[in-house]
Amino acid sequence: MTGAFVAGLGNARALSKPLNEMENSSPSAPARDPGRFSKLTPYAVDTPKGVKCQICPNNCILREGTESICRTHMVFSGKLYTTAYGNPCSVHVDPIEKKPLFHYMPDSVSFSIATAGCNLACLNCQNWEISQQSPSMTRNMDPFPDKVVEQAIIHKCKSIAYTYSEPIAFYEYTYDTAKIARSKGIKIS
Ligand code: SF4
Repeated sequence: MTGAFVAGLGNARALSKPLNEMENSSPSAPARDPGRFSKLTPYAVDTPKGVKCQICPNNCILREGTESICRTHMVFSGKLYTTAYGNPCSVHVDPIEKKPLFHYMPDSVSFSIATAGCNLACLNCQNWEISQQSPSMTRNMDPFPDKVVEQAIIHKCKSIAYTYSEPIAFYEYTYDTAKIARSKGIKIS
């Protein structure tokens, strides 16, 4: 593996120009500004110690300037934001068999996306170059949910896969994308 951008590439089919044009060449965001690829998350409650994220069992309690375990959430002006929204570092068209799923729409291709960050730190992670980074540290593209679905249709993908890293770390992005995908008859895997 030569870099985070190609993580999970394997035998993926190369993408065509439209998606390449979405490349984001300035991945770094100011430390205290959630930036363009942020979205206020509804999965938060205020506690005396800080804002508690309710997305995964880590239950991070965060203050301004502290980093979440997954590296994709931050507190800004007292509110919890995801910084992974529409900000994937890996975007590929993969055979569905690579996911791997047994006999699930065999021979089809799946539009596969991942952002940097993960709520786990497995020592055997094959995609550690992206999973153990924050979205501000990887080379990213910027397909927001509607664009992901549009590209999936263009590339004749029957499904969209959240893969390569742990999708719970970019749950807000997966959820909004899934809603649009379902309305267009595209499966989520
Ligand atoms: S999703 Fe991230 S910020 Fe939220 S509890 Fe899990 S590790 Fe913490």
